[in-house]
Amino acid sequence: MSLQRLCVLGATGSIGASTLDVVARHPERYRIFALSGHRRLNELADLCRRFQPVYAAVPDQASADCLAGLLRGAEMLPEILVGEGGLEAIAAHPQVDTVMAAIVGAAGLKPTLAAVKAGKRVLLANKEALVMSGALFIEAVQASGATLLPIDSEHNAIFQCLADPATPGLARKGVRRILLTASGGPFRETPAEQLVEVTPDQACAHPKWSMGRKISVDSATLMNKGLELIEACWLFEATPEQVEVVIHPQSVIHSLVDYVDGSVLAQLGNPDMRTPIAHALAWPERIDSGVTALDLFEIGRLEFERPDEARFPCLRLAREAAQAGGCMPATLNAANEVAVEAFLAGQLGFTEIPQLIESVLKGVEPGPAADLDAVFAADNTARQLAREWLARR
Ligand code: NDP
Ligand code: MG
Repeated sequence: MSLQRLCVLGATGSIGASTLDVVARHPERYRIFALSGHRRLNELADLCRRFQPVYAAVPDQASADCLAGLLRGAEMLPEILVGEGGLEAIAAHPQVDTVMAAIVGAAGLKPTLAAVKAGKRVLLANKEALVMSGALFIEAVQASGATLLPIDSEHNAIFQCLADPATPGLARKGVRRILLTASGGPFRETPAEQLVEVTPDQACAHPKWSMGRKISVDSATLMNKGLELIEACWLFEATPEQVEVVIHPQSVIHSLVDYVDGSVLAQLGNPDMRTPIAHALAWPERIDSGVTALDLFEIGRLEFERPDEARFPCLRLAREAAQAGGCMPATLNAANEVAVEAFLAGQLGFTEIPQLIESVLKGVEPGPAADLDAVFAADNTARQLAREWLARR
């Protein structure tokens, strides 16, 4: 077995921490070659001391100076790279085998694409990158021969349930539809009128998963499931109509695949991201992830409900953006990023998040995502419209 050299983009985040936890269990298999962080430089310095990467990437020179200061006296000093160029350089570095793409939001698109274009084994947590650039991303995977493995627990489950991932198209695999499970988030049972008063801390207190704040808010609005619907369409060549969202509060079934012969395959496990991370790191082998064995007797029952799109309009907005295609998913994603940021900053109510996004979607002409420039132009326009909406209200 050869040693895999890893680059972890977004090492200071929640997925970064889970990745490094799994990696630390298998020093004979994995070596940390490069790490990136953004604002949490103390955490990045701790990780550099512990994992001794050859490179560390930070946003700018001031952060590089700060990190260098924090690492003074360390046994091994990484070379510190800055900016988007630094992220792209570590993602595409010739000595890197595997890239964990775990930056949150649109900021992850260029470095993740750099890893794809360099033909790496890419472990994709940064769903926003794929949602934004869809066809361009998948074309780049095919052109470079990169290996794309989903980290999102639902997509990792679907990947595991698809008998033959190499056969193109759902129909040729004999798949009728994909059942994408959702916990329902912290407000699954909250009446519509109480959603108006929801605070950022309440939204971030997810009942089943401990995650970064942006994805926690997305889970609470169900936009996360909407982004995942779009993600599933690209990863598995599905149409939006072939993906059905199922609320499953226990979060034990991570998704299911329904075959034409009536077989339905599911992947189960305790809700812990180390399972999909370990799966993708070792695929097609299996390694210990540190996750405790599933105890079905303790769980007792598994429940399922239809999502309530009246209380959670983000799911509908995402489906409509998926159906419109082109740059619409990039517009949706950018509007959502601005809305979530404003909500977390206390400048926007919870129920205003879908209102802002819908207004932005209505304000743009759907154009083709011909190239990355078109995608970023759509992203820019959406952010501008979203900020204008915020200023007007
Ligand atoms: P976190 O907020 O915990 O971590 C985000 C990471 O990205 C941090 O390392 C952060 O650095 C870095 N980062 C933030 N902004 C920028 C930027 N502008 N440029 C470069 N780096 C930046 O998020 P999560 O780990 O929860 O999520 C990461 C991705 O994985 C998201 O796309 C999310 O949707 C996806 N995902 C997460 C799951 C989870 O369970 N957490 C499950 C499924 C998918 P710093 O902290 O130093 O500022
Ligand atoms: Mg998920």
